[in-house]
Amino acid sequence: MNQDIKTKCPICEGETFVDFNGRINVKCVSCSSLERHRIAFQIYKNEGLFEEGRRRYVLHLAPERILSEKLMANRDLSYFGSDPRTESYNWMRLLKLYLPNDFKIFDDNYFDFILHNHVMEHIPGSYIDHLHEFQRILAPGGAMIFSIPGPSMSKLTEEGGEHLSSPEERLAKFGQVDHFKQFGRDLVDFLEASDGMRFQFDQLTDIERVRMSIPKGSNRFLIWRKNQRRQEN
Ligand SMILES: [Zn+2]
Repeated sequence: MNQDIKTKCPICEGETFVDFNGRINVKCVSCSSLERHRIAFQIYKNEGLFEEGRRRYVLHLAPERILSEKLMANRDLSYFGSDPRTESYNWMRLLKLYLPNDFKIFDDNYFDFILHNHVMEHIPGSYIDHLHEFQRILAPGGAMIFSIPGPSMSKLTEEGGEHLSSPEERLAKFGQVDHFKQFGRDLVDFLEASDGMRFQFDQLTDIERVRMSIPKGSNRFLIWRKNQRRQEN
């Protein structure tokens, strides 16, 4: 991808990458990680998820095996994985949750981290309702670290795929048979304007991306943080 810069996998320190699904040099030969896994791992590391010495509560939706095994190895994390299709995971136990209805099982201010990648476009209903619930269950000082297709800043979000009558219609409108929405700039506006929350895209530079064998500017992650409680005087 870039002959001048030495590439190394942040997960396993492997240095050899091969093409995958037409994408050049994106799969790590030794741990099989793809771009999204490596960037997530690096951000989780930067956010202190692999540090020990302090109990933290983590909710990981549709957990990727390579990431969850690393997270579960940190005994100071109380780690919960969740998916509506628990049967497709034979390597860990998960909570079987159908979002958004099952959000309500979680108390307010519970999780220090909420992690999910390419999940929100599969959840039926209004993304604003879902973000309100994520905000509610996030602990003060906690962060939701996530990725989605896009967002496309030249468009507004389109939702409602669950009301289309066929997978073919969803494919045509949203690009995949099980996608219910496509995110636009209003998502970023909402994240930025939410009371008591701060938003930023990940701060990894293009050089840092290339060093992990990730194309420049690609795989942008979103980090939505809840403010600490105000100090009582
Ligand atoms: Zn690797």
